[in-house]
Amino acid sequence: MTEPIPIENPHDPATWPTGRAVTLEPLVRRVLAPNASPYTFTGTQTYLVGSGADVAVIDPGPAGTGAAGHADTRSDGHVAAILAAVGTAKVAAIMCTHTHRDHSPASRALQAATGAPIIGCAPLMLEDDGPRADAAFDPDYHPDHVLTDGETLSGDGWTIAAVATPGHTSNHLCYALGESGALFTGDHVMGWSTSVVSPPDGDMAAYMASLALLQTRDDRVYYPAHGPQIDNPRQFVRGMIGLRRQRERQIVTLLEHGPRTVPDLVAAMYKGIDPRLHGAAGRSVLAHLIDLEQQRRVVARGESWACP
Ligand SMILES: [Zn+2]
Repeated sequence: MTEPIPIENPHDPATWPTGRAVTLEPLVRRVLAPNASPYTFTGTQTYLVGSGADVAVIDPGPAGTGAAGHADTRSDGHVAAILAAVGTAKVAAIMCTHTHRDHSPASRALQAATGAPIIGCAPLMLEDDGPRADAAFDPDYHPDHVLTDGETLSGDGWTIAAVATPGHTSNHLCYALGESGALFTGDHVMGWSTSVVSPPDGDMAAYMASLALLQTRDDRVYYPAHGPQIDNPRQFVRGMIGLRRQRERQIVTLLEHGPRTVPDLVAAMYKGIDPRLHGAAGRSVLAHLIDLEQQRRVVARGESWACP
């Protein structure tokens, strides 16, 4: 097993290496994939759990070439880096938090190389996943076993429990490491950005409920799939809930002054963000509007939205 190299600045992912395992705590290592993009920040963070005879691999990552401008699928050498980090240990499980293509496609190559089972989130059977938001879905994901909320999986010195957290996607799971109080939050809560919630699969009411669920837990640290670790989980989640409520109020206030389309709302609400993220912001605004419509606080009028 290669000796981990200390990270330069744990709070600055731009200083993190790709292709190498970095030890975060005795049971947890991180391997950063080479798929930096506006949607993935510095790339997908694959986690290895376990330091004994066997390990679990969480979010093995992308399996594409990054062709056609889809940098989020670039996977050069990532599975080899995971295998190098695994060394002589057995891979007990390949676990995905959800099936966006920057998270689950490498599960196939890893399974082919190790024979390990794919255990975790459910596959999605979508007729229509809506316009591209942050990432397309991985239609070829085939788990050997789907974990239900609270179900656990154990290996040599580790126990992982599934925590159902729908919202970013309907099949999203977080994974709680019982021995250390760490929670692997996937794209549900990230250290660098709010999650995109893209209807029809993404659901803002479910997302808010999944944030509220995290507030009832006592996790010590979050390891997200993108961005730095979160050392103050409850405070962070409280801030996320506040931010979403603020966006919701902002939408209602804007609509009180007259009907607006989603692009109008994005232009008014997201001043100064990377224009490449306008599409993703629009999906999250639409998710808020659908949630507000279900609460009868806004109504759809053709392409526009208004207060009733
Ligand atoms: Zn995602």
